[in-house]
Amino acid sequence: MEKTDIAVLGGGVIGLSVALKMLNSGREVVLIDSEEPGSGTSYGNAGTIAEYAVLPVGSPEVIKRLPSLLFNKNSPIAIKRSEIRSLAPWLMKFLYQSMPKQAEKNAQSIAKILVNARLRWEDLASQINGSSLLNSNGSIYIYKSKSIYDAGLKDINHRKTLGLNAQMLNPSELNKLEPNINLIEGGAAYFPDCAYMSDPGKMMKLLLNTCIEKGCPIIRQTAKNIERTNNGIKVTLDDKSTILSKHLVVSAGAFSKKFAKQAGDNIPLDVERGYHVEYDMNEPLLNRPCCSADGGFYMSPMSGRLRVVGTVELGGVSPEISMDRVNHLENGASNFFPSLGKPSRTWLGFRPSIPDSKPVISASRKGNDVVYAFGHGHIGLTLAPVTAEIVESIITGKKPPIPIHEFSVQRF
Ligand SMILES: Cc1cc2nc3c(=O)[nH]c(=O)nc-3n(C[C@H](O)[C@H](O)[C@H](O)COP(=O)(O)OP(=O)(O)OC[C@H]3O[C@@H](n4cnc5c(N)ncnc54)[C@H](O)[C@@H]3O)c2cc1C
Repeated sequence: MEKTDIAVLGGGVIGLSVALKMLNSGREVVLIDSEEPGSGTSYGNAGTIAEYAVLPVGSPEVIKRLPSLLFNKNSPIAIKRSEIRSLAPWLMKFLYQSMPKQAEKNAQSIAKILVNARLRWEDLASQINGSSLLNSNGSIYIYKSKSIYDAGLKDINHRKTLGLNAQMLNPSELNKLEPNINLIEGGAAYFPDCAYMSDPGKMMKLLLNTCIEKGCPIIRQTAKNIERTNNGIKVTLDDKSTILSKHLVVSAGAFSKKFAKQAGDNIPLDVERGYHVEYDMNEPLLNRPCCSADGGFYMSPMSGRLRVVGTVELGGVSPEISMDRVNHLENGASNFFPSLGKPSRTWLGFRPSIPDSKPVISASRKGNDVVYAFGHGHIGLTLAPVTAEIVESIITGKKPPIPIHEFSVQRF
């Protein structure tokens, strides 16, 4: 049995950031991951440090459009029909959280936790030698038609009430910022203060290497089970070996629910599957991530490739790829860039999603021997540094960087 002060279960961007934070506080940390840490969802995302993502996924507008969104093949959201029954409890909670009062409350909480996300990432990137992977050209939402632009304007005005800095662009202003995007009928919203990563995978490797350099052992095993004992939290691994720790941080992304249950908490975590296709090219066509607002996907310039990334597919963690979703991304990208051809590769990842779009960053109900750090949905990359600060405060008793009760397990 290996003994440690803090065990971190799951080494995506959340677990890696938590591990580094605790190592920096002089604590002994062990990281457990069944895969290469940082190689899953935290690798394949759109790379945006999305301070502008202040609105929850569930909103009154989404309820109105849900039937057409879920059952139209060309829609940005899909549902795996075979999974509808198992998704039902999550969907019911999601519908409740989409009602006007709840949605506004959730937006206010999300806006608070997003504040300074870019500054926090600049600080973290400089600690791990990753500053050159952070770009500060901002991000853009593109509204192809006049009617989509009008709906977008309403959405952006709502975000502005939550403190967001955004500029609306007409088609020629958009074309000046992004010369490879032809004149469209609608317009765009520009978020000038936001950053993005030109290679999230490389940033994950830097995070991992820094943790290792600071003395963090990486246990490449699948955790099977966690249990409270008189001497601490015991994690049983695939090969039946165990790790005993004073604190266990559950940061297994979309796979965290079962461990929370074993620690005594029933958390409504489910999965929004997301995809990317990549086109290898020397000059990736865009100067910053551009999101097709009605298509529900980003086109993110990354080193040596254009990554077309997004869409939501409700329906569990099976590795099976839905070609409808991939085609949605390919068709969407070729509407902007007709000569793209076929993608060089395709990828599927799992957003760990809570119906209220807020992560769970919290001590377990039974105490801070188990700490939850999962459920970051669409903004896990953005929120990793602040999550690490909050986890540190829960473990050490330090003052948290923001009020944290809104992200607590007590809300369920
Ligand atoms: C298509 C797409 C686009 C996105 N774009 C953005 C974006 O632009 N900006 C943004 O902020 N966010 C974005 N996100 C969301 C973001 O990527 C996620 O919220 C974030 O990566 C979640 O990180 P995590 O560490 O919680 O989970 P993960 O990265 O999934 O890491 C969890 C880790 O736990 C390990 N694990 C799981 N179970 C076990 C077990 N039993 N034993 C041992 N190890 C285990 C896994 O192997 C994995 O390494 C996007 C997501 C998707 C899918």
